[in-house]
Amino acid sequence: TLVRSVDFVAGAVSMETLPTRMLPEVCFIGRSNVGKSSLLNMVCNRKDLAYVSKRPGKTQQFNYFLVNDKTKSAFYMVDVPGVGYAKVPLAEKSKWASFFESYLAQRSSLKVVFHLIDSRHGPLAQDLMTMEAMRASLRPGVQYVIILTKADKKDGKVSPSLKQQVADALDAHQLKETTPVLVTSAVNRLGRDEVWRYLRLAVIK
Ligand code: GDP
Repeated sequence: TLVRSVDFVAGAVSMETLPTRMLPEVCFIGRSNVGKSSLLNMVCNRKDLAYVSKRPGKTQQFNYFLVNDKTKSAFYMVDVPGVGYAKVPLAEKSKWASFFESYLAQRSSLKVVFHLIDSRHGPLAQDLMTMEAMRASLRPGVQYVIILTKADKKDGKVSPSLKQQVADALDAHQLKETTPVLVTSAVNRLGRDEVWRYLRLAVIK
């Protein structure tokens, strides 16, 4: 699929500040350093998407990228920072978590949630929190997809035991049957077509 344009259009910090122009959207969630920017660049064939702040310790926002504006297949890609993982005060974290849960439950244009997990580490405590948020809050009909990143560091193969850990974590949240697990590398572009297979759910009206 051709990405003709991709523009940073908004940063949202609450339900009230989400873009009001409704287009289908997909979001990418994952801990910082999981490889999210690299994956977004790979998917869009870009080198450096116009990123605003990536400062650690700062309260981060949902970053909205508008893909293929002024075409029939325009959609948003939303970069969601790891919820509650940033070094921010507890009150800030719970505000963030409730925004995220409201977003999962209420954003009617949301089509796909991609959850990035580092293939070297497997699901960490934060990832289990994210799965729990999916189980508890994700609107029915929204596709949830796990992406295991940086597979080149494992020679392109994710170990069976790590895959099992992911399957077990999904199973513990009643998500196993419905959640595909993709393997990617931004270094050698592994998995790009599989990611697009699910991105297309947002493109096709
Ligand atoms: P973000 O914080 O989740 O946006 O992560 P970045 O995309 O900035 O990546 C964090 C670090 O991991 C950087 O040093 C990247 O070069 C590296 N990285 C990201 N994706 C890959 C990958 O697929 N393979 C390898 N080997 N390194 C990666």
